[in-house]
Amino acid sequence: MTDARIVHRLLSQRAVQHDAVMAMLPLLQPPVDRPGDVAVPLPRLPAAYPQIIEVLRRLQGSAWPAGWTDALRTRLEEAAARSRQSGHAELAQADLPAGRVWLALAGQVAGQSGGRAANPPVDFALLLDLRATIPWDEWPMDAGSSPVRVRLEYEGQAFVVQAGRHLANGWHYDFHKTLAAQSQPFDVVLERDVGWSELPWGRMLAWALVSAAVLAVLRSLLRQRVAARRAEELLRVGQVARLNQLGELAAGMAHELNQPLTALLANTQAAQRLLGDDEPDLDTARHAMGQAVDQARRASAVVGRLRRIVERPDLSGQAQPLALQAAVHDALHLLEPELRRRGIALQVDAPADLPAVLAEPVALQQIIHNLVMNALQAMDQVDAGRRRLRVSLRTEGARALLSVRDTGPGIGPEARARLFTPFYTTREGGLGLGLSLSESLAQAMGGELTLAPPTNVPGDEPGAEFLLLLPLASSS
Ligand code: ADP
Repeated sequence: MTDARIVHRLLSQRAVQHDAVMAMLPLLQPPVDRPGDVAVPLPRLPAAYPQIIEVLRRLQGSAWPAGWTDALRTRLEEAAARSRQSGHAELAQADLPAGRVWLALAGQVAGQSGGRAANPPVDFALLLDLRATIPWDEWPMDAGSSPVRVRLEYEGQAFVVQAGRHLANGWHYDFHKTLAAQSQPFDVVLERDVGWSELPWGRMLAWALVSAAVLAVLRSLLRQRVAARRAEELLRVGQVARLNQLGELAAGMAHELNQPLTALLANTQAAQRLLGDDEPDLDTARHAMGQAVDQARRASAVVGRLRRIVERPDLSGQAQPLALQAAVHDALHLLEPELRRRGIALQVDAPADLPAVLAEPVALQQIIHNLVMNALQAMDQVDAGRRRLRVSLRTEGARALLSVRDTGPGIGPEARARLFTPFYTTREGGLGLGLSLSESLAQAMGGELTLAPPTNVPGDEPGAEFLLLLPLASSS
């Protein structure tokens, strides 16, 4: 569309030239004495400006020269009146199909007539031939063969500058811009139809490929970022953090237990030996046994401390109003790759208007994570086609209920009784702490974690359903 801008600039330059010529006329013309005087021919003017067909003039206040239609003379009158106001040439009449345009310029009272201020001002009118205004020598296209259509448009009329070529189908470009000349407010219109076969397919294809490549790179960067963030979160909330913590705990525990147990062993062995003597040294044996009891108590205290850490996390004062839907969404987002890898169909039922619950954010995340992770692991035991996870939320009285239901093998009566007991596990490599820890966390937040009773409805899918109840923030 560079051509369009060039065409607009060239035509605007010519139009402005007309204004300039008009402004010059009062200086070129000899003074007018008689009303109705027709312009004295200006021999050099048409030679320099072949587009000027006619120049009329009159003393202001008198009639335009005879020999022109009344309609035109009225138009000239009106345009001269407008020009007196605006101070520049005005369009009087345009016959664009014929390429004929009349402009009028009113002389200003302060006397532009070569300093002859005493005379009344002179009005001028100019008839232009648009055909001769086109600067073909500077034209950016080959007017004969170019497919571009160029027109000047004004009030529904059009002057065809360049015919170009019209195609019924194909790609259509157009350009509209008004001439930059006050007296000739014509629209410059360029139109170009490009047939489908003419389109620069190669360039377009290259462009599309480059765009697609850039998009692909951006998407993969974004995906990497999401994956990295997910891994970070998993580390914080999930298995890994739990295993790390428990690993450290176990190492610490082993260290702390090692000493009392070694002492216990040494003491009881000593007592055994003493009591086995022919004359047992009962006092020393009693002392050794006393020491053994003390060491056993120490060991028991260490175990008790561990149990307290696992069973009674201190969450007092840390609960805050939270959107349960958001917590569920976050936990599921973290486990999304796991779900996908196992081919599990996910269904989440959550009313949009569920009130906020009162909970500690990390603890809540950990519970949901554990429940979902257990469900995923349980479903490893059934065919991929039958794996469905349903997470639903609803209110139940003054509490919110979160249900996590899977289509795994379900939980038998024996396991039911021991599920929440620390270290109970049926999984190879399992620690058996997930559910007991989750139950303790739920209780510490004033909530409850239970296993839903088995459904005995015939035809119902087997599986397990865990229920987490949490107090609503509004009820406290
Ligand atoms: P872990 O996952 O380390 O075994 P948990 O305390 O999380 O520890 O789970 C204890 C046991 O409860 C599991 O080993 C498994 O036997 C059983 N269990 C938990 N969730 C489910 C479930 N959704 N379906 C079937 N069994 C389950």
